[in-house]
Amino acid sequence: MRIDVVSIFPEYLAALDLSLIGKARQDGLLDLNVHDLRDFTTDRHRTVDDTPYGGGAGMVMKAEPWAQALASVAGAGNDDGGKRPVLIVPSPAGAVFTQAMAYELAEEQHLVFACGRYEGIDERVLEWAGERFDVRPVSLGDYVLNGGEVAVLAMVEAIGRLVPGVVGNPESLVEESHSDGLLEYPVYTKPSSWRDRNVPDILLSGNHGKIAQWRRDQQLQRTAARRPDLLEKIDAQQLSKADRAALQALGYEVTADRVLRRP
Ligand code: SAM
Repeated sequence: MRIDVVSIFPEYLAALDLSLIGKARQDGLLDLNVHDLRDFTTDRHRTVDDTPYGGGAGMVMKAEPWAQALASVAGAGNDDGGKRPVLIVPSPAGAVFTQAMAYELAEEQHLVFACGRYEGIDERVLEWAGERFDVRPVSLGDYVLNGGEVAVLAMVEAIGRLVPGVVGNPESLVEESHSDGLLEYPVYTKPSSWRDRNVPDILLSGNHGKIAQWRRDQQLQRTAARRPDLLEKIDAQQLSKADRAALQALGYEVTADRVLRRP
């Protein structure tokens, strides 16, 4: 997969040299390139922003440096079958980034990230970019950051780890939080007794069937306690009899296709 990131703070992305993503770059699994937006300006001051039309506080990123930068990376990927690269524009006004979106984007050949700063990028850039990219404004969550770089670090890590070969043991991706709409069960390691706190007996029993059932119940309990909104999105047709019983014990009503919280 090829990834291009355009930013006025390319040094912010240095963390992508570390850990699993850094190793994936070294191994050639991720061809990740960071570009300085100011290299695409033409004036002496390397200006990337100007005052907003209509007035108001803050500055807006100018269109032309963005068009130059994006045009320079548009054809850089090994985009097969004429598929357009995906341009991800981090924005608190975008669709919220999810694990499902990470899986979808991990299938792409070429991702381009445009890191905004100030009040964001002149809107005409997104319209113009729509002629060559599949443009997707994406939010990390319902809060406002100073710039897109932190959002890009999070998205590249979440997407990159799903590219085959990046995480050594692909099994470890299967049971994670959000992979099946639920949060992960609690995990423990040695010693089995620590500061008067013991690991649940079942995990020491060696009974794999019972351990799997315990973990599933914990997933349901934890999701009900911390993220009840996730339970209500679950496709109830995929729930086992045991899941249904566990949810009913937690105060949920399980219909043929939905999980509803009891009033
Ligand atoms: N004026 C913009 C608004 O209210 O929608 C916010 C601009 S913010 C100060 C500057 C930049 O930070 C944005 O262009 C975007 O790149 C990034 N950003 C801020 N919050 C974000 C979020 N929740 N998710 C993704 N990117 C974000």
